[in-house]
Amino acid sequence: MTTAPLDLLDLDTLLSDEERDIRDLVRRVADDRVRPHVADWYERGEVPARELAVEFGKLGLLGMHLTGYGCAGASAVAYGLACLELEAADSGVRSLVSVQGSLAMYAIHRFGSEEQKQRWLPGMAAGELIGCFGLTEPDHGSDPANMSTRARRDGGDWVLSGGKMWITNAPIADVAVIWARTEEGVAGFAVPTGTPGFTAREITRKMSLRASVTGEITLDDVRVPESARLPEARGLKAPLACLTEARFGIVWGALGAARDCLAVALDYAATREQFGRPIAGFQLTQAKFADMALELQKGFLLAVHLGRLADAVGLRPEQVSAGKLNNVREALAIARQCRTILGGNGISGEYPIMRHANNLESVLTYEGTSEIHQLVLGQKLTGLDAFGG
Ligand SMILES: Cc1cc2nc3c(=O)[nH]c(=O)nc-3n(C[C@H](O)[C@H](O)[C@H](O)COP(=O)(O)OP(=O)(O)OC[C@H]3O[C@@H](n4cnc5c(N)ncnc54)[C@H](O)[C@@H]3O)c2cc1C
Repeated sequence: MTTAPLDLLDLDTLLSDEERDIRDLVRRVADDRVRPHVADWYERGEVPARELAVEFGKLGLLGMHLTGYGCAGASAVAYGLACLELEAADSGVRSLVSVQGSLAMYAIHRFGSEEQKQRWLPGMAAGELIGCFGLTEPDHGSDPANMSTRARRDGGDWVLSGGKMWITNAPIADVAVIWARTEEGVAGFAVPTGTPGFTAREITRKMSLRASVTGEITLDDVRVPESARLPEARGLKAPLACLTEARFGIVWGALGAARDCLAVALDYAATREQFGRPIAGFQLTQAKFADMALELQKGFLLAVHLGRLADAVGLRPEQVSAGKLNNVREALAIARQCRTILGGNGISGEYPIMRHANNLESVLTYEGTSEIHQLVLGQKLTGLDAFGG
């Protein structure tokens, strides 16, 4: 799919040759391997996640921005571009890559022991082992500080009990990074999913992210050795650091879904005639296109800025919150607006727009809802914490 006319401001010039090469490679893979099948996966609510993971692993897309242990060691901008191109095909497929790389692998890479890194990361980078990240619970989503899942010491072991909800990849995972409360505060554990007492039920009847596997985890006295605890993860700031990583990918990814909607709507409006002329020729339609293209380009500028900052000095959490809040909100608005341009066809699975719009509803909610990111920014601006009311 050509995207050049959408780049009104020549923002491509902000990228290096190497970054453009990576982007083009991922775009080709998404076009060849995902795009032709994804409407069908979405409709059936089934995705060949394990096969895709192996293919993405061969390309170095899993844990792409991490170094060592078989990871590609790419820049933040290159990783962002990969997320954008994957999400232009489907947010669920980008979620597979984000959760594997930025949540599960990052947690082990940043907080794990050398033994844990050697055990899990090379296989995860290759896509042969799948990871998931269990923070959200049925009764605690936006307020993970109040989590109910417990880990208690028993001799040299830990015993985990509780449950996790809405966990991407859980039903197909080999290892689950589980966050639990201990007497010393929140701790993380790399739990092999075959451990007795660990079960992951697939959540079905989703109306969004249907090309992504989501599960509910039950931890029924799951006994793991001390060597399963992530030794460097101390307190809630550890899982929150992982979320900051994953949100960065979403800042970029959401733009991909929006770009795809806009490209499809432009194509459609050029040939769809009403009142004897292409609907692209109506002023109201052009106003929609102008506003959407501007938002898309502003979102890209924001993403590139955050990416360059990440590569130079690192990002503060509120900076990532600003990017996630803006780019997902605008992407969803673009998807809904493009839907109107396709009229009745806008709701058809023959076109990707409704799928993207439905997917973006999840993207708006996971990795911190829009409201939570507004509160993060509000706290930064005012110095007052409004999370409790
Ligand atoms: C498809 C999908 C995949 C996911 N994958 C994962 C995963 O892999 N791992 C994981 O751990 N989690 C995952 N999640 C969970 C996701 O992160 C949570 O759904 C999200 O954090 C919101 O939590 P909640 O659903 O419990 O909503 P709630 O926290 O109950 O929020 C409900 C509403 O209340 C609002 N709200 C809450 N607190 C406040 C407040 N203080 N002020 C104002 N408004 C507030 C929220 O913004 C929201 O609008 C996934 C979710 C989905 C849908």
